Amino acid sequence: MSRFRMFPTPAQHGAMLEQCRHARFVWNLALEQWSMWTSDKGPTPNFGGQCRQLTAARAAFDWLRAGSQTVQQQALRDFDQALKNFHARTHRRPTWRKSGRHEGFRIVGSQASRIVKLNRKWAQVLVPKVGWVRVRLSRAIPPAGSYRITRDRTDRWHIAFAAIPPPILAPGTGEVVGVDRGITISAALSNGELLVCPGLSETEQVRLKHLQRRLARGRRGSNRRRRVRAAIAKLHGRAADRGKDWVEKTSTDLARRYDVIRVEDLRVARMTRRPKPRHDAARPDQYRPNGRRAKAKLNRGILANGWANLVTRLEQKSPGRVEKVNPAYTSQTCSVCGHCAPENRKNQAVFRCLACGHEANADVNAAVNIAAGWAVSARRETPLRASPKREPQPATSA
Ligand SMILES: [Zn+2]
Repeated sequence: MSRFRMFPTPAQHGAMLEQCRHARFVWNLALEQWSMWTSDKGPTPNFGGQCRQLTAARAAFDWLRAGSQTVQQQALRDFDQALKNFHARTHRRPTWRKSGRHEGFRIVGSQASRIVKLNRKWAQVLVPKVGWVRVRLSRAIPPAGSYRITRDRTDRWHIAFAAIPPPILAPGTGEVVGVDRGITISAALSNGELLVCPGLSETEQVRLKHLQRRLARGRRGSNRRRRVRAAIAKLHGRAADRGKDWVEKTSTDLARRYDVIRVEDLRVARMTRRPKPRHDAARPDQYRPNGRRAKAKLNRGILANGWANLVTRLEQKSPGRVEKVNPAYTSQTCSVCGHCAPENRKNQAVFRCLACGHEANADVNAAVNIAAGWAVSARRETPLRASPKREPQPATSA
C-alpha cells in the first residue's frame, strides 16, 4: 500500500468524520448480527444479503440515507473479508470498532473519476458526500481501484491506495544473512551489524511520564485532560512513526543486499498475549499474581521494536526468500565449534565458548547460528485466491 497525507478543510474534516461514523456503525451492526445469530434462523446472511438489508435500512432511516452508499457497502465488504480471514485462521475474530480508535472508511472507483493531479506536489481526491480533498503527492500514484481513508489519533488524515508493489529483486550473489531480534539490540545481523529501532528520546520519555501523571490527576471530561491526552497521543504517534520507518528501511535494505534472509521462528502474537489469570485454590474469589505487569513491560519492548512487523514486511518485499529457523539453543551454541551449553553465555551481551574460547557479541553469535540455519522449518505459505473485485491482500505465512 502506498499512503499519502490528506489535507481536508475544517468543513471537510467534519464531513469525513461523519463518513467514519457511518462505516463504523455498519461494521458494528454486521458484527452484532453475526455474533448474535443462532442456527434456528437459517444460514448467516452473506455479503449480498447484508447489502439488501442495508438498502432497506437506508430507505427507512433518513440519516443513513444521507451518507454515502459506497462507504456503507464497503464497510460490509471489509467485514466480509474479516470473516474470511477469521475462518482461514490467519486473523483473529473481528472486533468492535471504537470511536477515536477506528476512524476510517473505504471508497472504490476508477482512478480517472476519483483523482485529479493539480501540479507536481498536489492532487485532489473525490470523496463521496465530502467533495474534492487535497492530497500531498510524496511519490508516484500507483494504479488502484480501491482507496482507504483513515484518521490517526493525532488528527492526521491519510489515503492509502490498494496496490501491492512488485517484490524487491534478489541481488543474485547467493549471500545469506541471519537476523537475531532482541529487546536492547532490535536486530543483530550475522555480519556483525547491530541495528537499533529508534523510539522516544530520554527527554521525550521524561515528558511522557510527566504527562501521564498529569492525566491521572486530571478531572474526567475536562478540557485540560483532553489536551493532555492529545499530547500523549502525539508522543505515542511519534514513536510509532519512527518504529515503522525503521522497519521499512531495514526490510528494504536486507531484501536488496541478501538473497536469503533467515529469522527465528518466534510466535510473536503468542508471546505478546496477556498472561492467563491464575486462580487461588484457597480463596475462590481471588487471583494470584500472574506476572502480568512484568510481561506488559516486555510486551511494550517487543512491540516497540516491531519484531512481527519486520518479518511480515520482509516476507512481503522478498517473497520466498525469508526462511524461519527453529530458535532453540541459538543463543547458547557456539557459532564456531558448535559446543552448546548455557554457561557459554557470560551475560546479556557477551558470548564466550567454554570449549574453543570463541568470544563474540551474544546477539551476533546467535545471528550467525540463525544464518547457518541447521533446522530450517518448512512453514507452508498459504496461496491466495484473489477476486479482481476485492482489495488485494498481501500474502503472509503467519
Ligand atoms: Zn566454540
